[in-house]
Amino acid sequence: MRVLIVGAGIGGLAAARALLADGHEVTVLESAPELRAAGGAITLWGGGPTVLADLGVDLDGVGQRLTAIEARTAAGHVVSEVSTDELGALVIPRGSLVVRLARGLPDGTIRFGSRFGRFKDDGSEVRVWTQDGAVHTGDLLIGADGVRSRVRAALWGDNEPPCTGVASYQGLIPAPVDLGTRGIMMVGRAGDVGLSPAGDGLAQWLIDLPWPPPKPHGKPLEMLRRRYGDWASPVPELLDALSGVALKAWPHHRLKIRRSWGKGRCTLLGDAAHGMPPILALGANQVLEDVWVLSRSLTAAAPETALRTYERDRRRRAARASLFATQAVAFTGPRTLFQSERSMRMAPASSRLSTRAVTALHRSVSNRLQVQG
Ligand SMILES: Cc1cc2nc3c(=O)[nH]c(=O)nc-3n(C[C@H](O)[C@H](O)[C@H](O)COP(=O)(O)OP(=O)(O)OC[C@H]3O[C@@H](n4cnc5c(N)ncnc54)[C@H](O)[C@@H]3O)c2cc1C
Repeated sequence: MRVLIVGAGIGGLAAARALLADGHEVTVLESAPELRAAGGAITLWGGGPTVLADLGVDLDGVGQRLTAIEARTAAGHVVSEVSTDELGALVIPRGSLVVRLARGLPDGTIRFGSRFGRFKDDGSEVRVWTQDGAVHTGDLLIGADGVRSRVRAALWGDNEPPCTGVASYQGLIPAPVDLGTRGIMMVGRAGDVGLSPAGDGLAQWLIDLPWPPPKPHGKPLEMLRRRYGDWASPVPELLDALSGVALKAWPHHRLKIRRSWGKGRCTLLGDAAHGMPPILALGANQVLEDVWVLSRSLTAAAPETALRTYERDRRRRAARASLFATQAVAFTGPRTLFQSERSMRMAPASSRLSTRAVTALHRSVSNRLQVQG
């Protein structure tokens, strides 16, 4: 089949690899003039690394394997530790993953500078008009154009994903402390602060906080110092390392997940279908789950049936991941009481149980992990 994919992010590129390997003819329409390799690091774990291995993506020498994540209070007291060995956790700069996914795609597969404008599905083929005036024809259209998807808007009308009331400051910096192979997540009533090794001496950091801020907060680093300056190590070291770094808040969005993602010969994939907050680092893994299910469905059935099967098989797990990602940590209201120093210290979670709970969570949102091999 001739497959048109809109968007050369992690989802569009992974889908291109999978569908080319299945013998389809693939064209990826990307609005940017080149691969968008910006961004911080992402955590691949659970089904995500398995799908990348299935796709033959070479991740040798990039990122950092994580052996554990420590949950700490704001005062630095370790309340639990999740072993991430079984989940194959890898923290990898987003740009490195994008480049590795694009490596080996036949020349001309990605058409840069091709911004999706509109499409028409006449029941036997799909035509896409891009804003440079070109027309592309295929048997299927996959909208992998991110949380503000224009393909979704063309299918279902605009639906701007609402902000969840939380934002992250985040990015990659030279590691401010030696983290070894362990990530740290500190939780307090003000929000949470995370730090993970990302390979090559880099660390991925994040600070989540309520958004928009209740009152104008001036310069971001000053605000972060006021809010988190008295937290235990490694927060002061992190804040020192951020001086001179351009800080930008990323508000969290959560898309209402539709019962039907697509219709006819068109479907959605990744953030376009189920954009979710980055808390718990499930988003990129959910995108890879979509790719795996889509490619299997297209191998097994006629186009329209295959797309509806894919949507049905993914929807429940993606919705569950989105719910976990929204509710994992409280940022306002009485639930933050459970994140106070006292409550967290009074109820430490056994590391064995925490590991089992996190592993079970990943299994419950993965289609790939339901299948052996
Ligand atoms: C530049 C960039 C930086 C990011 N940085 C981070 C980060 O630091 N941390 C994090 O957790 N997540 C980050 N993300 C988001 C994360 O990569 C995604 O949430 C996740 O991987 C889902 O991927 P996706 O392929 O569904 O969507 P995306 O990664 O958003 O990819 C969508 C692609 O579609 C293209 N596109 C959009 N509209 C059109 C159009 N009309 N026509 C053609 N192409 C279009 C975009 O240019 C983009 O390449 C970033 C995304 C981008 C694009």
